Amino acid sequence: MSKGIPKRSEDYSLWYNELVKKADLAENSPVRGCMVIKPYGFSIWEKMQAEIDRMFKETGHTNAYFPLFIPKSYLSKEADHVEGFAKECAVVTHYRLKNDENGNGVVVDPEAKLEEELIVRPTSETVIWNTYKNWVQSYRDLPILVNQWANVVRWEMRTRLFLRTAEFLWQEGHTAHATKQEAIDESVQMMNVYAQFAEEFMAVPVIKGIKSESERFAGAVETYCIEALMQDGKALQAGTSHFLGQNFAKAFDVKFTSKEGKQDFVWGTSWGVSTRLMGALIMAHSDDQGLVLPPKLAPIQVVIVPIYKGEEQLNAIRDKVNEFIPALRKAGVSVKLDDRDTHKPGFKFAEWELKGVPVRLAMGPRDMENNTLEIARRDTGEKETFDLSNDLVAKIEGLLTDIQDSIYQKAVAYRAEHTTEVNSYEEFKEVLESKGGFVSAHWDGTAETEEQIKDETKATIRCIHIDAKEEEGVCIYSGKPSSRRVLFAKAY
Ligand code: AMP
Repeated sequence: MSKGIPKRSEDYSLWYNELVKKADLAENSPVRGCMVIKPYGFSIWEKMQAEIDRMFKETGHTNAYFPLFIPKSYLSKEADHVEGFAKECAVVTHYRLKNDENGNGVVVDPEAKLEEELIVRPTSETVIWNTYKNWVQSYRDLPILVNQWANVVRWEMRTRLFLRTAEFLWQEGHTAHATKQEAIDESVQMMNVYAQFAEEFMAVPVIKGIKSESERFAGAVETYCIEALMQDGKALQAGTSHFLGQNFAKAFDVKFTSKEGKQDFVWGTSWGVSTRLMGALIMAHSDDQGLVLPPKLAPIQVVIVPIYKGEEQLNAIRDKVNEFIPALRKAGVSVKLDDRDTHKPGFKFAEWELKGVPVRLAMGPRDMENNTLEIARRDTGEKETFDLSNDLVAKIEGLLTDIQDSIYQKAVAYRAEHTTEVNSYEEFKEVLESKGGFVSAHWDGTAETEEQIKDETKATIRCIHIDAKEEEGVCIYSGKPSSRRVLFAKAY
């Protein structure tokens, strides 16, 4: 144990849970499966949101808001959709409590039963398509390119902070189009936006792909996804984008008149990423000392720790660092001077290490004499002495870019080492046991084989790579013919 978090090699799962709590990201709530996102965790989420939102707007989308409650009858209008979500719905049946006549506090007032029960949204296709019915008459009303930032509830049985919670925060895009091709292009575009965000901002490399039928979103014709690999060799579905065909338009009778005067149902898409991305970010880069945050998403990019004895030395260091802090801020670097006199420098070093601040500057009496400071980078632990007569802003900017890039490259290298092509079921099981990761194998395309492999090994088909090449082969399980490889992994 170091600083109260276990080592990854000892217990990866416990390491994750403890890290989330000790780094002040989130904690469990009294309601099972729900979480409190603490200010430090929320500020990372806000940075993610800001970038994702910017990317949505650049691709022509605008935000709106739809209700939390969905009439039960709406959810049932699309058969596959309701079947997929029924098992995890929270249902509101009453709207009032009353004092118990037997003095047992408050009870549900049986007279306040709702005429129609309400579902707390697990996702909003139904309520949104019911709204789009009124928004669309002709081709001139299309496309609709709307996103909402919201919370949703899915009554998950096995939960884990950020990765899988009963209530989570997310964005859900819901678009409506005049043609099938336009809707397919939109779904692919949003998968690409997610991949770009994951790689450029989170520094997490992802595989873009298509889900197998059994992993497809309930009510979709095709589900596109991005899949990331965590440091324990398990995969994580980081984002999904669905081509809905005309399924929801038919369920909610959303028709439009084309340019040629013909009536047709509208084509749809939906796409989402959630607070699960926080889990991906934590698991992809962090180490036994704590979080490792990519500079582009770190709420504090540079922390300055003064090393001093007495008020006089502290004031001298304060004056000195205040000479360059404004220049760093002007260059867009977020800087924090940790001049708390309640904690020793060693404690502060450990705390900022735990919280994943990419760069730490330390300045003591010797540095004051020499006009230097110490620069330490969080990802590698490397330290150097920097002469302040040189350009500190350029140095820090270069370092932040370098850290962003090198944690990405490290994750790419890890994934390359943990992606294995196999040609037999024996080999498949051996690789899953020994090193995990993505296993590329031939599959006969049937749900039965997929299910049996899952039962026997816990590995699921993560996706069919978007650029999967045609390749003649035989299914590792059934020996039946297969025309391309798919990616399997044990997943979160
Ligand atoms: P879906 O609507 O099922 O395609 O999910 C949209 C996004 O939310 C995907 O990126 C999922 O990985 C994520 N997600 C699904 N269920 C949960 C959950 N229980 N907790 C956190 N994120 C989730």
